[in-house]
Amino acid sequence: MNFEQLKALALSNEIRVSDTEDYFRTPPVYYDSLTHALQAFFSTYLTNNSSYNYYAQGLSNKHGDIHKRDSLDEDNTMFTLIGFERFFELFIKDLLRTVNANLIAYVEPNAKNKPSNTLDLVKQIQDGTFTARLFDGKVGSIPFKITLKRFYDMISLSKDDVTCSNNEIVRKFKEELRIHSYLDSPEYLATFQLLNWYRDKILHSGNDLPTMWFLDYLVTQKIMPIIIQIIESQKDKVGKGLFYLETLTKINLLEKFSQIKYEFEDLFRPNQIQDVLFNLLYIGHLKELGRATYTLKLPMRENRPTYEYAYRDPRQRARRFAETEKDNCAEAISISSCPCCAEATLVLYRIEALDYGNLPNYRNIHWVKCYYCDYYLWYNLYDPSVFNLSKDMVLPPPYS
Ligand SMILES: [Zn+2]
Repeated sequence: MNFEQLKALALSNEIRVSDTEDYFRTPPVYYDSLTHALQAFFSTYLTNNSSYNYYAQGLSNKHGDIHKRDSLDEDNTMFTLIGFERFFELFIKDLLRTVNANLIAYVEPNAKNKPSNTLDLVKQIQDGTFTARLFDGKVGSIPFKITLKRFYDMISLSKDDVTCSNNEIVRKFKEELRIHSYLDSPEYLATFQLLNWYRDKILHSGNDLPTMWFLDYLVTQKIMPIIIQIIESQKDKVGKGLFYLETLTKINLLEKFSQIKYEFEDLFRPNQIQDVLFNLLYIGHLKELGRATYTLKLPMRENRPTYEYAYRDPRQRARRFAETEKDNCAEAISISSCPCCAEATLVLYRIEALDYGNLPNYRNIHWVKCYYCDYYLWYNLYDPSVFNLSKDMVLPPPYS
């Protein structure tokens, strides 16, 4: 089977997943990529939990170099970057498409009068002389790099009163941008460009990825402020699609993330190590809450299992699992309320382990695991109450 035959077979077996005439998706399809990106990012705590306390010390001591490679979570780092890039790309394309579909169209390379810049392009679109390049008889859409150039050119054009009064497309764009004026930011443009650059690097070779220190910095300090504003500006389109951004204990994760402010250089400053430690541990807590709360999909939040149609009470089952674990596991010592799902399904464990800092003595090591939402915390992240994420302590002293 050659490519054309295989493609014909694929085309005859496609299903539209986004809006159709009688079906409008909430939220728009590109929010799936935001979810994928955030879930991959949140998962980087679990994959690194046993050494998170070393990671959280930053880069001002010898642990930094040792943990650069150890703390890299290749899969989740890659999916975080690709997910965010696709989300922003499709979101910005959607804004341009709303103004005029040709704003994201490829220029026909053999056109007699090819537009030389974005102003030319909008003039041609307006007077009907623009020729789009077709792929299989359909208008092809431009890559993200060109999308960004056109979008930010359009922002510049929309600030020029003469251009605005002469061109209906620029006028319409200005109107559309009104609720998205936060995008008019060189910082945001730089973040989009960086994601585009990383996406290309990953898809073209994939040999180099950012360290977790840079990933945490990029996501919490550069990307999340944009996400918060996009969601705010699209409240009516988002619906319940981002349910996992609030835990069942009413912790608003984006709001908490937005309270964490630091510069990347702080990670290298020995006199900032306490602040760095606090911030990175706090980020670890929020990641785990985001990962765990997502495991409870919308039906599960109403105590309806997602795929076990005949079963009616998964919440009660989780309580039984926790009780069984407490009664039958030698290391399980008590049950408490989960800071993520609020159920009494959080089992506290304790083991005795060699204390390498004080050999040959032993010391107690603790962790908690929830049998309803899958929340998991190793003692080295400290108690969630230290970060105001839980009223009650879930770990015993000295972690609280
Ligand atoms: Zn839970």
